[in-house]
Amino acid sequence: MIYVVGHKKPDTDSVCSAIVFAYLLNEWKKAGCKIMKVDEEAVPVIQGEPNAESKFVLEKFGISVPEIMTDGEGKKVALVDHSDKVQSLDNIDKAEIIAVVDHHKIGDVTTPNPILFVNFPVGCTATVLKFLFDKTGVAIPKDMAGLLLAAILSDTVVFKSATTTDMDKEAAEELAKIAGIDDIVNFGVEVKSKLSDVSGMSAKDIIMRDFKDYNMSGKKVGVGQVELIDLKAVENRMEEIYNELAKIKQESGYHTIVLMLTDIMKEGTELMVVTDEPKIVEITFGKKLEGKSVWLPGVMSRKKQVVPPLEKTFANL
Ligand code: MG
Ligand code: MG
Ligand code: MG
Repeated sequence: MIYVVGHKKPDTDSVCSAIVFAYLLNEWKKAGCKIMKVDEEAVPVIQGEPNAESKFVLEKFGISVPEIMTDGEGKKVALVDHSDKVQSLDNIDKAEIIAVVDHHKIGDVTTPNPILFVNFPVGCTATVLKFLFDKTGVAIPKDMAGLLLAAILSDTVVFKSATTTDMDKEAAEELAKIAGIDDIVNFGVEVKSKLSDVSGMSAKDIIMRDFKDYNMSGKKVGVGQVELIDLKAVENRMEEIYNELAKIKQESGYHTIVLMLTDIMKEGTELMVVTDEPKIVEITFGKKLEGKSVWLPGVMSRKKQVVPPLEKTFANL
């Protein structure tokens, strides 16, 4: 059995790309594939509960929620949407990685043998998968096309994120035709709106829903992101969220935690920061941290506009 899995705290790309890559691997097993030999059945798994957006997407296209799996020991695995050990299954070193399909910076997993490793600097893993379908001549069924489209719209924030490429847009257009979605942008806003309702959530749940750990020059750094249709949804909870950030920082020994409160419509991010070294904010973003947060116009992407410049700052501290 091959377990196909995305990163911890799964987002829609990690959930949908795991499902669709498992489908593709099974097609390759049946019909043969010119890139790699697939001998075993592939099954998608996720490392935690899917979020409200992912649940909406799965329901919309009639796909059941994958099983949760958190430990990779002794398993054959294919990774999607990550190649960093900290974001992967527990005991990933004791798993056999047979493939990686991703769109992030290259992480730290290694393999003893050559494997399929496809990483494009595009907006979404689903876009890379679309390429692999096309390249190997496998038709994309309607439901799988819907999942891929939703993942692209989610990851690229309906094409507004700086990570968006022409390849993402082209893939989305072709996928929308297959999936029978007429108005791509309208569907994208509907998908994104599912995570915008944070009214019933605790501050901790808001922070941790899409939260990633990084090792930046030996310092433990956490970067969370909340994408909102309107920043007003958290306006009167800033104090509460900040206090929770400070608590998490202390309890888990972070040097710095930044929380991106991203306004999808205004296309910018209110960056909330708790840190041992407040000057990193000004060094990294050219704006002084006054109070708890700072508004960064045009900043929408964690992996392109926040993590790399932060890593650079930490390297030069
Ligand atoms: Mg992801
Ligand atoms: Mg992704
Ligand atoms: Mg994401």
